Amino acid sequence: MPERLIYLDHAATTALDPRVLEAMLPYLTSDYGNASSIYTLGRRAMQAIDRAREEIAAILNCRPTEIVFTGCGSESDNLAIKGVALAARNKGQHIITSSIEHHAVLHTCHYLERFGFNVTYLPVDEHGLVDPEAVERAITAETVLVSVMYANNEIGTIEPVEEIGRICRQRKVPFHIDAVQAGGALPLDVKALNADLLSLSAHKFYGPKGVGILYVRQGVRLLPQLQGGSQERGRRAGTENVAGIVGAATALRLAYEELEQVQPRLRTMRDRLIEGILSRVPRSRLTGHPTRRLANNASFCFEGVEGESILLNLDLLNIAASTGSACTSGSVEPSHVLVALGLPPEWARGSLRLTLGKDNSEEDVDTVLTVLPGIVEKLRSLAS
Ligand code: PLP
Repeated sequence: MPERLIYLDHAATTALDPRVLEAMLPYLTSDYGNASSIYTLGRRAMQAIDRAREEIAAILNCRPTEIVFTGCGSESDNLAIKGVALAARNKGQHIITSSIEHHAVLHTCHYLERFGFNVTYLPVDEHGLVDPEAVERAITAETVLVSVMYANNEIGTIEPVEEIGRICRQRKVPFHIDAVQAGGALPLDVKALNADLLSLSAHKFYGPKGVGILYVRQGVRLLPQLQGGSQERGRRAGTENVAGIVGAATALRLAYEELEQVQPRLRTMRDRLIEGILSRVPRSRLTGHPTRRLANNASFCFEGVEGESILLNLDLLNIAASTGSACTSGSVEPSHVLVALGLPPEWARGSLRLTLGKDNSEEDVDTVLTVLPGIVEKLRSLAS
């Protein structure tokens, strides 16, 4: 096996940036105080959290008090959706979302259905785009929340969130954006996005795992989902993860400081992967939008092969990638995202997602372009 790992699964998680680790270390060692303690050690922790909140608020163009720290992107999505829906349940019990959301959103909506909420799951077009007019048509007097993702985690399609937000604003319905895949990659100005709530997760932009961020616009009614102490202005109980919060803010700041250097490089490598794979692998197609897509996402379907088998063969060559299929009780089911695109099952089962990161090189792209056609050919010949 080649020694060096070629990591092409940055949509799953990213490595901690060494500069982020450095910023975090004092809060794991010498400055270990509880931010609620009133003596100097505790106050130092609180000051670090305050600075982190200010740094993040500057990037989101919001007030520091509108930032809530959580334990992950999933928790941010849960808090946004359950928090708003339950606070408004006497006004109405209708939620609108899309059929290609992450399970952190979809399963939260399913959960609320058990308690009497009605959820509209909007379809998407063949490229994974939600139609803003369909959002408008779906809004009723009962609608208490619209939740649409900024960019899809499997296919990289960037949704028209600004436009959806504009419609929600006009109709006075709170709008939540799951921006977990967009953090560190796309502009996060919540005013320009017309967002009322926005979720982020630090481990997707070279920050630590176990830290989520939720923007909640002042004035939006939110019922806390974790009861206990009065941390985070009563919106999320629990002793703050000081080092993690410092790491999240440092990682987000670095990502936006370096955006102009990193994103064009990713885009160039992505386009080489897309063009190279489509031209070298017969019966292959790109999934997601051809242009409105994350700069680091190259995702495909190959007819007549199983995505898992491709992954195992890549792993033997020390290449880490992902597929949009899930293995349930021995049979490979295509993901809900690929199904929503209308792909036939014999294509959807053969999905491969390659997501680039700032440490990838053109050489990594060359390696994939060299080995992948042979892997797909071998698997097809074994299957026939
Ligand atoms: N939303 C999207 C779009 C995601 O891609 C993910 C994670 O992959 C999540 C939410 C959940 O984030 P976390 O892993 O931090 O819980």
